[in-house]
Amino acid sequence: MTEPKPTPAALARDDGWGYDGARSALRLIADDARQRTSFGTCEIEVLRPDDMLEFVAIAGNQDADDEMLRRATPFSAMALTLGLGAEYGEWTFVAQEWLTPEAVEQLTAYCWIPEIEDTGAPDKWRALDVLVARILDDRGQLRALMYLDEPSSGRRPSPVELRELDANLRLAARAVLTAIEREELSQQVRLTTTAQEVVRTASRRLGYRELLPETRKLLADGFRADDLAVLVYTDPPPDLAPDSPVGLRGGLMIAATDAARRAWGEQTVVIAEPGRVWGDEQLDQDHRTDLARHLADRGAGALVLAPIGAGPEPLGVMLIARRVGEARWTQSESAAALEVGHDLGRAILNTRAHDRERQLIAELTRLDEHRTRLISTVSHELKNPLGVITGHLEMLEGIPDLPEQVSRSLTAMERSSARLRSLADDLLLLSRMETAGQPPSRARVPLGPILTEVVEDVDLPSRGVAPTVVLADHQPDLAVSGDREELCRLVSNLVNNAVKYSRPGGEVRLALRRTSEHVVLECADDGLGISPEDQHHLFSDFFRSTNPEALARPGTGLGLAIVQRIAIRHGGRIQVTSQLGVGSTFTVTLPAV
Ligand code: ADP
Repeated sequence: MTEPKPTPAALARDDGWGYDGARSALRLIADDARQRTSFGTCEIEVLRPDDMLEFVAIAGNQDADDEMLRRATPFSAMALTLGLGAEYGEWTFVAQEWLTPEAVEQLTAYCWIPEIEDTGAPDKWRALDVLVARILDDRGQLRALMYLDEPSSGRRPSPVELRELDANLRLAARAVLTAIEREELSQQVRLTTTAQEVVRTASRRLGYRELLPETRKLLADGFRADDLAVLVYTDPPPDLAPDSPVGLRGGLMIAATDAARRAWGEQTVVIAEPGRVWGDEQLDQDHRTDLARHLADRGAGALVLAPIGAGPEPLGVMLIARRVGEARWTQSESAAALEVGHDLGRAILNTRAHDRERQLIAELTRLDEHRTRLISTVSHELKNPLGVITGHLEMLEGIPDLPEQVSRSLTAMERSSARLRSLADDLLLLSRMETAGQPPSRARVPLGPILTEVVEDVDLPSRGVAPTVVLADHQPDLAVSGDREELCRLVSNLVNNAVKYSRPGGEVRLALRRTSEHVVLECADDGLGISPEDQHHLFSDFFRSTNPEALARPGTGLGLAIVQRIAIRHGGRIQVTSQLGVGSTFTVTLPAV
């Protein structure tokens, strides 16, 4: 035989709404309403966040109170009856004879039915008559139902009496709404503050390691927990004291974390109370007794598993324990715990990402420092032997009547050592600029004289017809603030490149102008030009063209990297426009003084 399917009410967790203070307030309102309207009984049902109606106050009928108080039933059951009645303001009257068989079934299953003798008189109050007010909040959301039953007159109220009743109980209905809102708000404020604290603390300078220890206390206070632990599935399990209710062991812990993963999928929390586990049927079936023993041994009244996650991914679980005798865990607290689970999930991912970023930056900085140190040491070490080689070469070249063959070799050696020297110089300059970090010395440097100097000293190729270098119109006193030596290097690298990558008989044109705030230096040539792909990499260290014609000319790939660094250190920038086979224009913009 299969088990009968449980009704929704059997699955509902009773006694899930607010704390006792709020219940007492509602009980007083119900008692007052009953006396003022000459009804024997007044009951108030609150609509919980999980769409369950829970009896929170029953006045005037001890039997009803004993049986129904704190019972939760699905709202849908009552909705059916509400739809059958006649409305008088906020109140609806449903006569027994208007009920459909289904409504009768629901009412008898979920409501208190008084014993009333049916005399058959037409206006006599019947056992299944329902008189109920819908209590809506300012947004029109249903928050509670208020019932009146067993009129002392024994009669059904007339339509006129029902309208009077509506006017008479307006204030009482308002008081019910206020009491409910105050209770839910106070829980929400307490818990939302907790959630926000978590995120705020996390998004401050906290690293992942500090996140959980620092927020744990905050969360425990927020949830009025006796003990609270946060488990993140990818981390090694924390050290949980075995005598604490959150210190689940072995199979029980595995089952609990499995339930928490399922709970994230369902967006619900799992509540283990002595004798029943709410929110996860599997855990209830398999471990109800073990969990009850676990709670009893540790004096706990409840252990709540609130899942933590981000997007569809469950990341961990919050274990929240309350002592026996503490207020019962409420639905609002479940809703808030879920919210905290989302906030905490985000905070976990964020802080982890920050940590990774910080680690990566530290590693890159270390590597970069190492690279700069290496370059600086190697170039220093190169310069000494190069000095010796150059000295000896000069000495050898000074010997008269050297054989032709020897002279040619000496010239080749001289050329190569000059290239090595310039490579070592470039490397040293680059590493000096990197380690210095700060801007170069700040003096007023007129650029005109630098341009003239560079044009005079330019390295013209010895073969073919050298390109002409033209210094176009410029105001010689245009100046920038910075380091003269570096600015010389910037202009010289650009002009020497333009000459080097020109064709015989080409023209290199230098120009200097001023805009409102900048000095603009332009170096244009009608040489080899640069392909669009190469243009993307021009300013990277050691980049050399992919164009074979350009590659055939000697170079290190450091010239433009140096130019760009100098421009940036002077608060400026460099841009290039170029067309392969037509020519290139490099434009440096620097702040004017
Ligand atoms: P190098 O000239 O030592 O190779 P640079 O950093 O000065 O290194 O230049 C990088 C590359 O940019 C060069 O290899 C060359 O292909 C290209 N390039 C630079 N200036 C020009 C120019 N004026 N015309 C054509 N190509 C150029």
